[in-house]
Amino acid sequence: MKCSIQGCPGEYEEKLIVHTVKRRNDIMVFKNVPAEVCHVCSDILLTSETVQHLEKMILAGGKPEKVVPLYEYA
Ligand SMILES: [Zn+2]
Repeated sequence: MKCSIQGCPGEYEEKLIVHTVKRRNDIMVFKNVPAEVCHVCSDILLTSETVQHLEKMILAGGKPEKVVPLYEYA
């Protein structure tokens, strides 16, 4: 599928990405999330099914597979 960013000649490719969700002060990281990624501008599309699935996982509040370090840049 052609990239939806104006002027970008790229095409979306199916990839597994690391997706970050921010909720107030919480940051949740999901890996191996199926997404369409433009190979030129790196624009990312998630299907509504994928978004709903992530939403369900967040609401279910299951135990994460791993806890990752979070750094402040400054
Ligand atoms: Zn693009």
